Amino acid sequence: MTSKAAVYDTLIIGNGALGLALGFRLAQRGQRIALVGPSARRYSASQAAGAMNGCFGEVTRDLLSSVHGRQKLEMDIAAGDIWEQWCDEIKEAAGVGEISLRRKEGTTIILNGGGTDAVDTENFVAIRQALSEYGRSHQLLEGHEVPWVTAQGGNRPFQGIHIPDEHSINTPAYLVTLETAFRNSGGDLIDGTVQELLSLQTSAAGSVHLTDGRQLYANNIVLAAGALSHDLLTSALPDIAPYVPPVTSGYGASVLLSHGSVPRPPSVIRTPNRAFACGLHAVPRDEGIYVGATNKLQEKPQLFAHVPDLHALLERAMRQMHAGFGTSGVLAVNVGNRPVPVDGFPLIGVIPDTRLWMLTGTYRDGFHQSPFLADRMASAIIDGTHEPLFDSFAPVRAPIQTGRREDLIATAVEHALAVGFEAEWRVSVRWPTRIADLLASKYRAAVEDLHDTITPPPDVLVCMADNDWLKRKLRSYYGVYSRDRSLQERQPKFDVA
Ligand SMILES: Cc1cc2nc3c(=O)[nH]c(=O)nc-3n(C[C@H](O)[C@H](O)[C@H](O)COP(=O)(O)OP(=O)(O)OC[C@H]3O[C@@H](n4cnc5c(N)ncnc54)[C@H](O)[C@@H]3O)c2cc1C
Repeated sequence: MTSKAAVYDTLIIGNGALGLALGFRLAQRGQRIALVGPSARRYSASQAAGAMNGCFGEVTRDLLSSVHGRQKLEMDIAAGDIWEQWCDEIKEAAGVGEISLRRKEGTTIILNGGGTDAVDTENFVAIRQALSEYGRSHQLLEGHEVPWVTAQGGNRPFQGIHIPDEHSINTPAYLVTLETAFRNSGGDLIDGTVQELLSLQTSAAGSVHLTDGRQLYANNIVLAAGALSHDLLTSALPDIAPYVPPVTSGYGASVLLSHGSVPRPPSVIRTPNRAFACGLHAVPRDEGIYVGATNKLQEKPQLFAHVPDLHALLERAMRQMHAGFGTSGVLAVNVGNRPVPVDGFPLIGVIPDTRLWMLTGTYRDGFHQSPFLADRMASAIIDGTHEPLFDSFAPVRAPIQTGRREDLIATAVEHALAVGFEAEWRVSVRWPTRIADLLASKYRAAVEDLHDTITPPPDVLVCMADNDWLKRKLRSYYGVYSRDRSLQERQPKFDVA
């Protein structure tokens, strides 16, 4: 380091919802912060997000049945409770007055004919159960009471739940305002891409090299680079990276549609999570109606939407949401890459004996969780506060397994079949059972070949069964865990709530 080079208190790599939220909170609390990311937000999940404040709407049967799943729900609830004040703080720091960062019209979950009993009905019941258990306001609707939806034939809703306090964020306005709030609070927003991380030991300031040759120094470095975070970790700390769950890219497409003959949805309208994705949802926006979203695990982040995914999304929007979308135009196609750790849970906390922190792996609901995670991580960095909720999600960890192997295989099969039913396949009535048996055998053989006992979550399992790149990643991560007894002892065999 040259004697003149400034040393930041904290340098954040990644300018998505998480990096920006943390940068804002740290700068506001008086730290000297640099936040590095390309201004176009290449590959970013955040700019493709709905972004629903999905909390109870994200609940699934399986989420409620594991300790880690419950902890994730509690983070979602805690995040939901602070969004209002968070937006007020950002607006004040950005000096933007009455701009609308959130639509506060609630969410209506629909149980419709586009799904299956095994997935949609079970998850719908789990959502209702969680709302009652946590004492949150909601209203049950008969099918004919569900507003706005004009679905065709068998796709009409049978039931609904309106959740008045589950809102949505106006993504473009929010990200711009948060950037301004960060800068106004004294943060340095640096348009660039980090190529290399150096000197991460705790004895001296760490540094990063940017692709344009610049070098920056900081006492703490936070990896919040979304789906690319694990690649950067591997190049910086090749001995430690194998102990951290690899992060895959949950590539997803969504669209912004013009109204055509479709009226504005009175709230977010969505199905439960289904078929490995975050359900079909329509979100009212100032510029039109956002419809999302697809989800496919990929080895590398994607820049463009795949034709079959867009085709399926638009068709479902017309069949299950509103037939009037047949008169709409496509104003924008959004593509993003969710950071998906191979055990399905976030990576939050410091890498032991280094100055490197990780804040990523938030999969489907990182936008919603961002203010909560930013608050708690800022306290950990500045005050050394211990956050109990983060204990389970520390980056260096043995794989989290949220159920027994046979149950995870069964769930994988249910979701795989749900893809077929949602695409309105027509097969003889006895074929779904036969196909289910074949898929179960295929998935069982794939996991047995992978490891004696450890089983990945259903969406990762299904992708792994067809993809060698994912098998390699899982084998190498599970191998470290199997060899290292100290890691084994830190982890329960099965995590059942
Ligand atoms: C289609 C879709 C819909 C979604 N809907 C919702 C929703 O409704 N609600 C919700 O809560 N969540 C939703 N999500 C998930 C949510 O978007 C993510 O969990 C969250 O936004 C992740 O934020 P992030 O800041 O960690 O990552 P990202 O937004 O991916 O940001 C990472 C940033 O790091 C930058 N970067 C990468 N490499 C480098 C480098 N070497 N140097 C510097 N910068 C780098 C990237 O360019 C990017 O801008 C959705 C995601 C998708 C794809």
